[in-house]
Amino acid sequence: MQYCTRCVNPENIYGGITFNKEGVCSRCVDYENYVNNFPSEAERAQRRQKFVDILERYRSKDGSNYDMIIPVSGGKDSLYQVHLMKKEMGFNPLLVTFNHTFNTKVGVHNLANMVEKLGVDIIRFTPNPQLVPKLSRLSMEKFGDSCWHCHCGIFTFPLRVAHQQRIPLLVSQEKYYGILSAEGGLYTKVNPQDRIFGIRAEAPEMINEERGIYRKDLVQFMRPPQEELDEIGVRGICITDFIQWDSKEITEFLIKEYGFKTKGHDRTYDCYANAECHHCSGVHDYMRYLKVGHGRATDDAGIDIRKGLMTRQQGVEMVKLYDARTPADMKMYLERIGMTPEEFYGIMESKRDPDFWSKDKSGKWIPADSVVNHPGQKEDPNKGFERVEHPVDEPDDEHLIM
Ligand SMILES: [Zn+2]
Repeated sequence: MQYCTRCVNPENIYGGITFNKEGVCSRCVDYENYVNNFPSEAERAQRRQKFVDILERYRSKDGSNYDMIIPVSGGKDSLYQVHLMKKEMGFNPLLVTFNHTFNTKVGVHNLANMVEKLGVDIIRFTPNPQLVPKLSRLSMEKFGDSCWHCHCGIFTFPLRVAHQQRIPLLVSQEKYYGILSAEGGLYTKVNPQDRIFGIRAEAPEMINEERGIYRKDLVQFMRPPQEELDEIGVRGICITDFIQWDSKEITEFLIKEYGFKTKGHDRTYDCYANAECHHCSGVHDYMRYLKVGHGRATDDAGIDIRKGLMTRQQGVEMVKLYDARTPADMKMYLERIGMTPEEFYGIMESKRDPDFWSKDKSGKWIPADSVVNHPGQKEDPNKGFERVEHPVDEPDDEHLIM
């Protein structure tokens, strides 16, 4: 297995990477190019103005409808998006949330805090809590991924609201609403067929009557007809196409300005992200490790090394410490979906990447390689990087459906 000589990325990392002749991965090279070509203040102001000009075209002139939909989870990016749109730019957004039902106490607090402090309308959809475990279990068996209902719901439900309430603009920090074609910054393919957003199956493919999953249970997971979306002129726009987005800086601003709460995780040192879900950095990420041999700590260390917040050696230590760790939320998750640990590992057997995992004589899974075996480029020992210690507000073991 090849590993980046600058960060800790393995060659099989999600999304795919290439290496240059020094063994530096394409994400590190891209970041270097980004820093070297960082836009001037004037250029940034210009880009921001272009963004505002597009949004203005969608402003409800007589106040009879919302100016836009912002799909939110209640995490740091949601809060900053709403802060930008409502407080800084003065728009009237409708917030739309799909409730995945694996909420942390911190996440519920952050969502309520956002709505209250920014004074905005919100629609929150909660799917039948008895259906979610069935979908999650089926998703795990089909894809080795516990979260189909969440991946599909956060994409589909805001589109349904856009359709029903005839609100043509969806504003997001991620390219959720189609990365296939952008016309003047607006994404037009709101109905991408290539499943680039982690939607591994359309809702009709998840109907399973033997398991008690019927068509009628999946109403809110079904996409509105594309012709009708086209008739309304539904479009997505991605904030980060126009505005710089530094997650660490943003989170620190939100902690100070809004009292945004952070959460510790079992599988990474970075406590700023995924405060709203028990599983994103827990079981969901652990399944990824069982499949491909690395997890979120690899992602987070890669980002922090690139930004000069930690040395590669420190990053390797983080990967060693976190990537293989069994998360504490596993017990909670398996109880909810009615699965034993034996069944869980049994299902994951067939999901293991044979290029990375093999079995020894006793039947134990052995990883093909580790970043620990791959020295990186020489680092300046006097550079004095400090590893970021993200603060955690409080332990959060409570699992809230709503
Ligand atoms: Zn790299």
